[in-house]
Amino acid sequence: MKALIYYGQRDIRLEDIPLPTPAKNEVLINVTDAGICQTQLNEFMEGPLIVNAEPHPLTGKAIPFVVGHEFGGIVEQIGADVPDRCLGKQAAVLPLLSCGECCYCQNGQENLCDKWAYYGLIGADGGFAEYAVVNYKNIFFVDDPSLLTFIEPILVGIHAAAQARTELKGKKVLVLGVGTLGLALAAVWKFYYGADVYINDILSARQQKAKEAGFKTLAKDEIPSDFDIVVDVAGSDPLSQQATFMEGFEYMRKGGELVVIGTYFHALSFVPTPLIVAEKNISFSFAYNSRDVAQLAGVLDAVKIDFAPFIETVPLENIIEMGYFRSEVDRDSFSRLVTKC
Ligand SMILES: [Zn+2]
Repeated sequence: MKALIYYGQRDIRLEDIPLPTPAKNEVLINVTDAGICQTQLNEFMEGPLIVNAEPHPLTGKAIPFVVGHEFGGIVEQIGADVPDRCLGKQAAVLPLLSCGECCYCQNGQENLCDKWAYYGLIGADGGFAEYAVVNYKNIFFVDDPSLLTFIEPILVGIHAAAQARTELKGKKVLVLGVGTLGLALAAVWKFYYGADVYINDILSARQQKAKEAGFKTLAKDEIPSDFDIVVDVAGSDPLSQQATFMEGFEYMRKGGELVVIGTYFHALSFVPTPLIVAEKNISFSFAYNSRDVAQLAGVLDAVKIDFAPFIETVPLENIIEMGYFRSEVDRDSFSRLVTKC
């Protein structure tokens, strides 16, 4: 089968590899959709950052492996211990793997597991391939195919709500960065948690698309300084670097909170005292855990947004050129790039 293999910085190859076989607790998914997000682009441009070059403590696997951690498709084959009802179903993959034994796993904080792995990102093959084998426990059935690549970002949005120390209902929230994750988070926080969500993105086409989907948007020079929460979803965007992190504090009221989800791989420098005297707090949020998965069905019922207009599809054969390379020169033109495998 065709698969996109990550070897290292600026070295991703489309190769023919053997079709994987599911073990007794696994399923074989005929991948229909796999999405590119900034995390994958960062790994391509500056990695390996999160991607592991050494054998993984949970899975034993190191690069090269199949990338893509936001994906789904049709369950085509099942292992001996997997219920028959899974066959033929459409499912999104929940990419987090954990040991189940450490104190964090025991406490439902699998995202903090000492040995966490992630399909398509760390320690395990992912979804930019014609087929993928994943654990039966890591699939989530969805009816709407346009949701397949949004399930993981939606879970990350649910987790960020849990990490925020502020109760979200009715609170004024600014989401900085409306790529895949920013969009999913904004939708979850607006429709499920009842926050008063505003969006800003330095990329105008992305911001325009969010506006067309019904979100309130603000141009940079229109942003007031009275937000209860600012969410930094941009992270170490090569265009903004540390700017997003520090900018967030300018837009919040005293006692406000910056929720940081976007990742940074470069040093930040700032003077803490202005934040201390205004009690502007910082919360960090990473991935998702089983508590967030338990909320997923309820969240999907509440989130009234059509993700389909955000999706642009390209064939797997063209993803290197049309996804990875294009993103460096023209990221504004797509917000959710999905490859049809
Ligand atoms: Zn663990």
